[in-house]
Amino acid sequence: MPDATSANAPTRRRYRFREYHVTAVVDPMTLPTFEAVCVTGEDRDCGATSGELHAEEELTRWIADHCAATGHAFYHRTARAILRAEPGAWQ
Ligand SMILES: [Zn+2]
Repeated sequence: MPDATSANAPTRRRYRFREYHVTAVVDPMTLPTFEAVCVTGEDRDCGATSGELHAEEELTRWIADHCAATGHAFYHRTARAILRAEPGAWQ
């Protein structure tokens, strides 16, 4: 497959990526959020949800409790956190 962008060599350089340093922001006002949804099930997922939690240990405990009560073994986990991106040198 031909590379469409290589036909426009002079305009490519403005789209070059910079290297970014991404660090987690540690701020009590923007705590990371963890959530798990039980996706165990054949016809449809169980759908039980932990709700938003602010500690991974709490999430693990919720999964352990739900698994112990139901035998359900598969979960979809999401983790949200604020990150700060700082541009580095041009590559
Ligand atoms: Zn379940």
